Amino acid sequence: MNDVSPQSGPKKAPFPFDNSYARLPANFSARVEPTPVAEPWLIKLNRPLAEELRLDIAALERDGAAIFSGNAVPPGAEPLAMAYAGHQFGTFVPQLGDGRAILLGEVVDRSGKRRDIQLKGSGQTPYSRRGDGRAALGPVLREYIISEAMHALGVPTTRALAATVTGQAVYREQILPGAVFTRVAASHIRVGTFQYFAARGDMDSVKALADYVIDRHYPELKTNDNPYLGLLKAVSARQAALIARWLHVGFIHGVMNTDNMTISGETIDFGPCAFMDAYDPKKVFSSIDQFGRYAYANQPAIGQWNLARLAETLVTLFDPTADIAVNLANDALGEYGTIFQTHWLDGMRRKIGLSTAEDGDLERIQSFLTLMHKGNSDFTLTFRRLAASAEDTQADGQLAALFANPEALSPWLADWRRRLEREASAPAERAKAMRDVNPAFIPRNHRVEQAIDAAIRDADFSLFEALLDVTSKPYEDRPEQARYAEPPSPEEEVQQTFCGT
Ligand code: AMP
Ligand code: MG
Repeated sequence: MNDVSPQSGPKKAPFPFDNSYARLPANFSARVEPTPVAEPWLIKLNRPLAEELRLDIAALERDGAAIFSGNAVPPGAEPLAMAYAGHQFGTFVPQLGDGRAILLGEVVDRSGKRRDIQLKGSGQTPYSRRGDGRAALGPVLREYIISEAMHALGVPTTRALAATVTGQAVYREQILPGAVFTRVAASHIRVGTFQYFAARGDMDSVKALADYVIDRHYPELKTNDNPYLGLLKAVSARQAALIARWLHVGFIHGVMNTDNMTISGETIDFGPCAFMDAYDPKKVFSSIDQFGRYAYANQPAIGQWNLARLAETLVTLFDPTADIAVNLANDALGEYGTIFQTHWLDGMRRKIGLSTAEDGDLERIQSFLTLMHKGNSDFTLTFRRLAASAEDTQADGQLAALFANPEALSPWLADWRRRLEREASAPAERAKAMRDVNPAFIPRNHRVEQAIDAAIRDADFSLFEALLDVTSKPYEDRPEQARYAEPPSPEEEVQQTFCGT
């Protein structure tokens, strides 16, 4: 494998690597290099993100195809596959690990934050089991679009740095073009990373991992009386806030296994995820989620279930007396529900234009959601149009038109307006605040599928670029892009998404 070497004269390395995970004990990961591919071609480099990470853009423009496909390992990289376990759909698997992902290393970004740079789809690792270590183009584009859209929406998430095609086929139900995705994360440490060591009874490693995580993600806990309990509480609080944000934007993760839940509180592993069109709390997209375990409205409860699995790995560190330790764990997990509810209600209040809290707001929000569900109204458009109704009753017709039973909305609107009268803000100001939290543009599933189809069938990435563009400014009205704000027609509607393997 070729290193990227200067053609002439001294040149700075494209990545200012400063690796720390590679310094952890040998049982945390397996050293493995990416497997070179036949004919790499760079689909996309995320320049603003590359700037933020202090990368050498000129070098990446020159050598990006080789670097982001795994054909050239840049200087300073220490490629490794991370070990982890996980509960998949409730069943514990003691060894998963990065079966098709390789961490190149870490950089410290412009704001001083340490970030992982990882290739996904870059070949087999010791954790591949029967997998080929590869990724298909479709899931790579899906992750690119959706993770960048989540970022633009203000939801904590891993980011997309680059995508390449490999010039090699991957064999799934069909033969598909292969691709490699370059992901940036605050770290790739998962609930399942803790489970990997705990399942082996290796508490020294659990403790070493917890210390590493505190140092990297929660340094304020170093002086805490009980830092490991503090860690459980801090991760719970971040996950509660994260999942509330998912619900605010109509996002369904699809595979909330414990190996797909980060310790940093970022959304990770965009497989069969999607944003819903018509509001339905039971909505599921994933083709493999037959029982609706990871349905839209189940996500907060699953978050807590996953955190209970994290608590199990840490509990013996909370107190030497088992009963006391278990009580501390249960109390910590008990706080999750309240924290989630506070974030959720706060965000929902803002979605309907309330900046103050009153008793009755919860019921008001719930009855609106019930009307949306019964009326089969589009989740995103309903809240966006409600912003127009907040300054002009003339807009009510457009809002009501989203509902199968438009007349059912009138009593709710009347009550809502009485409630708005008790807000201090002027109507125009209120409508603006609502547009700042209720997106016009989300990566609608049918648009994502259309972009993927064009890329696979005709190597046409124009729809992918167009979708990236509209979803990068989700809260702006752009009349010329209005079609991207529209829900699918019945024949465009996508019922299922498939796992990203
Ligand atoms: P995921 O469903 O993508 O979260 O992956 C679950 C587990 O399966 C992880 O350990 C992955 O590394 C592994 N995996 C998924 N796809 C592949 C593949 N094509 N080759 C090897 N391992 C894979
Ligand atoms: Mg995963």
